[in-house]
Amino acid sequence: MDVDEPSASNGQKSKKRAHPDSSNESVSRTSSEVLSLVENPTFEELARQYPSFHKAWDEARQKQRDSGSRMNFSSVVSQEFTVSLTQALLQAYFNLRLPYLESNHLCPPVPNRFFYVHWIFNHLLKNEGPSMSKLGMDIGTGATCIYGLLAANFFHCNMAASDVDTNAIALARSNVAANQLERKILLLEVPPSHSQQPSLPQGGPLERTLMAYSNARQSKRFDFTMTNPPFYDPNSMEQQTSRAGDGRNRTSMTVSEGFYPNGEIGFVTDIFADSLRHRQSSLWFSSMLGKKSSLVKLEKLLIHVLGQTHVETTEYGPGQYTRWFLAWTFRRPTLFDERAFLSHGNNYFEVRIPEVMNYERAISEVASRVSGFCVSSPGGWVLNCQDVTPQVQPSSHIVLQIQEQGHPPVKHFADEWSHDNIVVPDVVKHALNGQDNTHFLPPEGHFAIQVAIDAPKAKSAEGFVVRVHLACYRHSSRGLKAVEKIRSGMEGEVTRTNRKWRRILQRQAKDGLN
Ligand code: SAH
Repeated sequence: MDVDEPSASNGQKSKKRAHPDSSNESVSRTSSEVLSLVENPTFEELARQYPSFHKAWDEARQKQRDSGSRMNFSSVVSQEFTVSLTQALLQAYFNLRLPYLESNHLCPPVPNRFFYVHWIFNHLLKNEGPSMSKLGMDIGTGATCIYGLLAANFFHCNMAASDVDTNAIALARSNVAANQLERKILLLEVPPSHSQQPSLPQGGPLERTLMAYSNARQSKRFDFTMTNPPFYDPNSMEQQTSRAGDGRNRTSMTVSEGFYPNGEIGFVTDIFADSLRHRQSSLWFSSMLGKKSSLVKLEKLLIHVLGQTHVETTEYGPGQYTRWFLAWTFRRPTLFDERAFLSHGNNYFEVRIPEVMNYERAISEVASRVSGFCVSSPGGWVLNCQDVTPQVQPSSHIVLQIQEQGHPPVKHFADEWSHDNIVVPDVVKHALNGQDNTHFLPPEGHFAIQVAIDAPKAKSAEGFVVRVHLACYRHSSRGLKAVEKIRSGMEGEVTRTNRKWRRILQRQAKDGLN
């Protein structure tokens, strides 16, 4: 859930933006284009088209003038201004109407809400086929059903949108009907989670929504779940204090919009535990977060349990109102998943090979040294080194692939950057049910190193200069340890053996002559 956001940029600045247009033009614009339009609306244009925005903007400017321009614009905006801006932006850029908004409910700022939907479709689901075939879930949709409206309207997908608040669901239903999106958006009123009401059976917000969905429709796998969680812990004082900076009161919201045991961390942890029990229910699970500290904590927990290839994050914050986004998936990663790529560390070295006649021989000699190094079980790792050179003739390079032979099960995936002790919350432990996490690894194990070996054709004074490039992929802390050990030993071994190899080659040459 959002705090501290007025959903307005400084309205005094006139920005160079295209004419807002309530025609169906948004259909032909990409989501990135629309995002940049809603981030920088031209207030003059919006005021010309939308009288209620015009009025609220005039009032805000008058208030600012009355203060002798001492107040900045964001501290003079009223709830009416925020509501009318949201309505105008939705109408202008999405052709969406939001007639049913009560002043005690949260009024969603359009840019970050649209960014989230855009991120899901353009990043998480980028390679997953057409958006209109997708099914999404919005947990805690609120009175506006904002994510449902944006996703169904712009990306033409189907949505299930849930909430515990009867009044919010009723208003959401009216807003959906006002846009004739009833066939695309299924609204579900759900019971509170076990954390909210301990007398109710086990289950968090995701599980409640899955149950309600399967009661209403035939169960189907979701492509994504999203949520903007209640933000505050009921025991925290945060909500009662006014905002730092301009000292305004915090955004209007109802109790269920605002509070959840342990705030947004509690809400997402409960959803994570649900997802561990219902792994097949969705390809991606995700949440928006209002605080960076929540992102850091939750991301560590997710990486600890699932491994980094299962987790994605991003942030969005034009201006000062940054929001963070976290997503996870149970899809088994491939060995060479780019999220497992280790970009830091030394991934290149050269070996000089003087004695051979041509560069191909120099390359194959270095390749056999690398294999020999692997056979020696560096650091006690039992390795398998395979030649995976693409079969194109003539080949001017060799590619080797190093993996572990067999791999032990893994309980957690604590990564190099999260050395701190992670406390796995009880709900998550319970959902894991003592199982090991090996099936979150790729089938080939904890790590892989690709070694690409090539050389310029020309011999220099010191012989052929053979280049060795390493591409390292690690899927767990065990994998990282192996990669580091292998990488640090290989260069020394492969280059240090020069002398030994020279002797062998000289002997071979002599034997050949005899
Ligand atoms: N999605 C809207 C509203 C977010 S506020 C927006 O982005 O503007 C958080 C919402 O979560 C509230 O509407 C609240 O009623 C709802 N909520 C709280 N507990 C819930 C639960 N257990 N299951 C589903 N929704 C819940």
